[in-house]
Amino acid sequence: MRPNYTLPRLYLDRALSGDIELSREQAHYFGGVLRKSLGDRVRLFNAGDGEWAAEIVQKGRKAMRLTVTEQLRAPQRVPDIRLLFAPLRKHRTTIVLEKATELGVRTLQPVITHHTQFPAFNVERAEAQIVEAAEQTERLDLPVVRAPVPLEDALSGTRTVVFADESGGDCVVGAVSRIDLPVDILIGPEGGFSADERAQIRARLDTVPVSLGPRILRADTAAVGLLMIVQATIGDCRLAYLSGG
Ligand code: SAM
Repeated sequence: MRPNYTLPRLYLDRALSGDIELSREQAHYFGGVLRKSLGDRVRLFNAGDGEWAAEIVQKGRKAMRLTVTEQLRAPQRVPDIRLLFAPLRKHRTTIVLEKATELGVRTLQPVITHHTQFPAFNVERAEAQIVEAAEQTERLDLPVVRAPVPLEDALSGTRTVVFADESGGDCVVGAVSRIDLPVDILIGPEGGFSADERAQIRARLDTVPVSLGPRILRADTAAVGLLMIVQATIGDCRLAYLSGG
């Protein structure tokens, strides 16, 4: 059954079966904001259950009960892409979280670099922003968002790191099409990477330095642009092609 994209959807971190009592906020969203009534249908989703239709079977001023009916979409994970990014000034970090969620990132890992100007990062606030973006973008899961770590800790594994290097690198499309998932994407802060950091990152065996063109992009622009290119070459598109989609 094709999902009815006009039905509103809600992320619920609990088993999507039987009767479900919504929280006051969730009841207010469906009942107060969207003016849904008894008998109306809505959609519920999470990573483990996929997406299910549900019917409003009881509605009070600040309460609502749903009955889960049929599954609309099976669970589906996004490609294993991790975004390593330096926290930015608040509204730009919000842009990174929202766009990366829309672009199908699996993990969001803030990293603290020498020139990071805004090291404070509120994981709870980030999670709330991510849920909203996932509901809107028709995702079936949420990206995992972690607390910030020092850059060297994030680079300590052996995953391939596509390093957005403002000082220059390979042409991004060619470089990315020669690698495969899983992959990390590394974007620096407003102040860019220090020379020591650049040397350390490039010294890694599994680093792929890429240029995003001759202009200096804002960090949020660079994150969105590089994510889009990775998804369009080795992420969503390659996976869809391989699965005959
Ligand atoms: N302060 C740096 C400068 O003036 O050279 C600019 C840093 S830029 C605002 C933030 C990050 O975006 C960079 O660290 C890099 O990861 C990425 N970025 C921006 N423009 C880029 C480009 N043309 N090629 C590759 N990465 C770029």
